[in-house]
Amino acid sequence: MSQVIYLNGQFVEKEQAVVSVFDHGFLYGDGIFEGIRIYGGNIFKCREHLNRLYDSAKSIMLDIPLSYEEMEQALVETIRRNGMKDGYIRLVVSRGTGNLGLDPRRCPVASVVIIVEQLAIYPEEAYVQGLKTVSVSSRRNIPDALNPKIKSLNYLNNILVKIQANLADVGEAIMLNAQGYVAEGSSDNIFIVKNGIVFTPPCYIGALEGITRAAIIELCEKLGYKLKEEPFTLHDVYVADEVFFTGTAAEVIAVREVDGRIIGSGQAGPITTHLLQEFRGIVTVDGVKVFS
Ligand code: PMP
Repeated sequence: MSQVIYLNGQFVEKEQAVVSVFDHGFLYGDGIFEGIRIYGGNIFKCREHLNRLYDSAKSIMLDIPLSYEEMEQALVETIRRNGMKDGYIRLVVSRGTGNLGLDPRRCPVASVVIIVEQLAIYPEEAYVQGLKTVSVSSRRNIPDALNPKIKSLNYLNNILVKIQANLADVGEAIMLNAQGYVAEGSSDNIFIVKNGIVFTPPCYIGALEGITRAAIIELCEKLGYKLKEEPFTLHDVYVADEVFFTGTAAEVIAVREVDGRIIGSGQAGPITTHLLQEFRGIVTVDGVKVFS
């Protein structure tokens, strides 16, 4: 089956799915997006992703030309037309086509794109062995410049981190905020475990309100793990018993080494492994069903 893309209300073949060079998403990174997973025909946490999308849109004063219900329908229909039960959905809303000036008032209609694709994920061994990671010198955008809670198309901050991760030959890296507190990865949230307590930085530190992060916080409550949202430093990461990243693509992935320090036993720890198992138990049930 060929890949069908949703583009501004139409379903088009991949080759025809093009936007204007005057689109401000292209010219200025002016827009927002979501990365969503579909597991066994279930759009995992669909409502939460759409809520974050519409919140990001409100924050940057971007009018999404579809109602919430129409957007959910567009997602469902794109998935159905691609016949994809397991995959990754990229939902992009850019400011739309304007002129070369910055002014968003010159962009009368936002562009909406939905792409459904196979996902390249970490091999299963990585979830047992854990990732090697490093901290990088690029700092997280400060919230009063470009708030990291907005899932904007402007990902240069994250890309600079990814470049440093590539140079260190690691898949994900740890970004600090301007004060030196741990913020998040290039495209994942971060958690540490110390003496049985699970910690994650509060989002005001400079982190996206990750949907997986929220699911893990909920699971911690359900499973009886004490969880604290509080700022911590790299030192706390180095001496943690367990460290893991969370994200739509990565799910819950252990970290075995940070800046040359071996974390815990040097592989996925018991709480990380338990949370991953429980997380995988909810991905096919919590969301919107497209196929059963
Ligand atoms: N932080 C950043 C910067 C991200 O891009 C992502 C991926 N969307 C995350 C965290 C994880 O968020 P989620 O669990 O919603 O995928």
